[in-house]
Amino acid sequence: MPSSSLPTTPSSPPSPPLNDNSHAERRLREAEDRLREAIEELQRRQRRAAACGPHQHPPCHHANDESCVANAIGNLCQSFLLSYGVRVGIGILLRAFKLVRRQSYSSLLDLKQLVSEKDLIVREEACRIGLLFGGFTGSYHGLRCLLRKLRKKETPFNTILAGSVSGLSILALDDSNRRRTLALYLLARLAQCSYNSAKSKNKFHLWGSHWRHGDSLLFAFACAQVMYSFVMRPESLPKSYQDFIQKTGPVAQPVYKAVRDCCRGYPVDIVSLSAFLSERKKSNHVELTEFPSIIPCSIIHPDTNSCLAHNADATTATFRKTFPLYFSLTFVPFVVLHLQKFMDAPARTCWLAVKGAVRSTAFLSAFVGIFQGVICLHRKVSPKDHKLVYWIAGGISALSVLLEKKSRRGELALYVLPRAGILVLFVYGRNYVLLGV
Ligand SMILES: [Zn+2]
Ligand SMILES: [Zn+2]
Repeated sequence: MPSSSLPTTPSSPPSPPLNDNSHAERRLREAEDRLREAIEELQRRQRRAAACGPHQHPPCHHANDESCVANAIGNLCQSFLLSYGVRVGIGILLRAFKLVRRQSYSSLLDLKQLVSEKDLIVREEACRIGLLFGGFTGSYHGLRCLLRKLRKKETPFNTILAGSVSGLSILALDDSNRRRTLALYLLARLAQCSYNSAKSKNKFHLWGSHWRHGDSLLFAFACAQVMYSFVMRPESLPKSYQDFIQKTGPVAQPVYKAVRDCCRGYPVDIVSLSAFLSERKKSNHVELTEFPSIIPCSIIHPDTNSCLAHNADATTATFRKTFPLYFSLTFVPFVVLHLQKFMDAPARTCWLAVKGAVRSTAFLSAFVGIFQGVICLHRKVSPKDHKLVYWIAGGISALSVLLEKKSRRGELALYVLPRAGILVLFVYGRNYVLLGV
């Protein structure tokens, strides 16, 4: 495994004025040392170039005495181990949170309960993620060395070709949905890069791109589309998205179906709806008709009559549910990828992870709370439902992204945007989507 050690730069202490001579001597010696190091480095580079062939191709940039194959394999192993470690670490931390929630604190010290094969099911996924990242970096470095030798020059074409071929390591993921999500995210990234490059050369820029909150607006637009489709056309969203939104929000699936039918003017499935309500033991308060003009609050949140209590519950429940996940996602990658920094200041790292996780969780909880709030508010002022309400509610609740760090807002917009783009295509016809999604 390649390990790089950075030489520490000697810092010269301020010299006493009486010792001018010795100070000058020391400076001279330091300059000599530096010159010697530079000459040695030059010689090393020449030797490396000679080893690769008699000046036939530009020298590689990897460590001096390492062959290209060893470098590629080293990169593969390092990335594999790091990503494997991150995934397993997240799994263990989430398991620990689960045990804490069950209040079995003593079991935290019991390795059998914490990491047993039965409860901690991350191995296959960790291996796949390791192969994805390890395979990518390993084959990318190997291919670049190979192309450098074959083409006897170093051009951007080499980089693009090596990157494209090693991108095939995405096949390590078995779920085609996740492959698609990753590919769409990378495509959005590519679009962002080319756009930024065109903008920096003053070739082209979008109207409104200089706005301070342009990224939040983009995110709001994307979320409006996604939440609208979640309520009105859930089949257009990938299953993982649907499950995530369903699990995070407080409203049950049969209620969404009733809202959808009501908006479209279809008859509401009274049988399944009343079965759901009797499960919640509130059926006697609600009158069900086949063609309601709106699905009332008493069905949307049957557990409580107060909209305010419902919204507060939804917000705090989301916070409790998602905090462990966000904490693990912030903490583990930092520890694994910056182990030295973590060892230097463990308390600070923990504090930063808690702060970051609280911020992200607050954003998601506020999103859920505001979405529910807008829906309740609509029921207070209007006797009729409209599908546009869910688009607007999604857009307004997405403004909670302002709670997030500025740098994360653009990131989130890029993550959600490809889905929203495809949803726009959906409006033009189903066939497009089958090609696109
Ligand atoms: Zn090489
Ligand atoms: Zn309500």
